[in-house]
Amino acid sequence: MIFFGCLADQRTVTSFFIFDGRVAQLVEQLTLNQRVQGSSPCASTISLMISAEIIIIGGGAAGMFAAAVCAEAAPDLKILILEKGPRPLAKVRISGGKRCNLTHTCPDIRTFIQNYPRGGRELIGPFHRFGPVETMEWFEAHGVPLEPLADGCVFPRSDTSEDIINALLYTVGRGNVEIRTHAEVSRIGKNESGFELEFADGSQAACSKLLAATGGGIFIEGLGHTVEPCVPSLFTFNTSDKEFTALAGIVVEQVCVSASRLKENGALLITHSGVSGPAVLRLSSFGARILAEKKYSFEMKINWLPAQSEEQIFQTLERFRAASPNKRVGTWSPVGLSSRLWKLLVARAGVDGTREWGTCPLKSLRRIAARVSSFPLPVTGKNRHRDEFVTCGGIRRNEVDFRTMESRLCPGLYFAGEVLDIDGVTGGFNLQAAWTTGCVAARSLLQ
Ligand SMILES: Cc1cc2nc3c(=O)[nH]c(=O)nc-3n(C[C@H](O)[C@H](O)[C@H](O)COP(=O)(O)OP(=O)(O)OC[C@H]3O[C@@H](n4cnc5c(N)ncnc54)[C@H](O)[C@@H]3O)c2cc1C
Repeated sequence: MIFFGCLADQRTVTSFFIFDGRVAQLVEQLTLNQRVQGSSPCASTISLMISAEIIIIGGGAAGMFAAAVCAEAAPDLKILILEKGPRPLAKVRISGGKRCNLTHTCPDIRTFIQNYPRGGRELIGPFHRFGPVETMEWFEAHGVPLEPLADGCVFPRSDTSEDIINALLYTVGRGNVEIRTHAEVSRIGKNESGFELEFADGSQAACSKLLAATGGGIFIEGLGHTVEPCVPSLFTFNTSDKEFTALAGIVVEQVCVSASRLKENGALLITHSGVSGPAVLRLSSFGARILAEKKYSFEMKINWLPAQSEEQIFQTLERFRAASPNKRVGTWSPVGLSSRLWKLLVARAGVDGTREWGTCPLKSLRRIAARVSSFPLPVTGKNRHRDEFVTCGGIRRNEVDFRTMESRLCPGLYFAGEVLDIDGVTGGFNLQAAWTTGCVAARSLLQ
């Protein structure tokens, strides 16, 4: 049985009960006053010092997975999860459009880590200990059949994040784990025997080992760690170019987008407000800090045919001109781009699309080839990618020992998940980092 409690007066207590391996969700409408009835007047929950061997701050993917690993390996170990929200695993529930893209298929770890703009190198060791393959095995062994898609994204076969949540709650429920919701930790202090935590309402908790799994951009300061500033990662770009956004819906499978020193390849989608698609998302992720400094206002270059040089494109146009002199320049693309996009490229090259190829001078062909190879797009802002909001920033990586996930500055303190300065591109990589660091931290907590 897993208890959900709260620390403030008059709050609702929600409980999950487990029957026959299935998690049924019951909601108990108890007020805290009812719950502590019978205790001495001065022994209100507020003034009680609660304690556990291990406290996990944050009931997200990383914290709950760490708790599940501990609960399974040491069912008697007393663990307390403190979650400030009304429920654990809130982000997992909405992840991947409620389908939960929990990981990505992995040909090899070296390739896998290329999907982490920050933290890939540090994750090599942890991924070898508990990587995507082990994650998939873990969930399948815990009753969640998985389905890898053609693009490598892995989802529960049932297409619902509830199955992931239930597997975690069930496993956590097999141990001596208590989950307290509405329990926001506001201060952490260290003493000889471990840690003392203070909640937003003034009550306290103590433990000998502490796992901070507080998610993106949030860490309770006071233990000497440096927090890299948090900025958004994984977003789409807006543009002021209305003729360009009039082409909304066009997808080009393989483009190269660049800005400053950044360059990414992949598919691009023209949207009503700008551009999206894997190439853009990767650029936003790898360039998160640079683009934040530019306040999301910069010029992006799109190479619509990166597999061919500008000279090769020019030669294709030249051959086409010789073969079809009477066709109109703006009506049909000789290089396989959509005709609406082609028309815009011809116009932006300063060439009249109604003229015939045969009358088009070589210098016009060169200008068109140049626009195909390098199309400037003014980026004027950003948008969320679907509802996915990932931050880059968090606890500085070199202050953490990635063999154990223990702090190098404060023994007994561990980190897991997005609280670290680690983030991945879209496709299941962020949750994978949470499972992996949660598992490695749990194994160290068990030592
Ligand atoms: C809409 C959306 C969709 C996403 N889809 C995907 C996807 O399909 N695949 C993927 O890989 N990634 C996805 N992500 C990213 C992924 O969800 C996160 O990377 C992952 O959940 C991080 O897990 P975490 O446990 O580190 O942090 P979180 O899930 O943020 O959990 C941290 C928890 O700590 C609690 N907390 C914070 N501070 C305190 C405090 N002081 N006291 C007590 N509790 C505290 C928070 O309330 C929270 O519940 C998505 C993100 C969003 C927002």
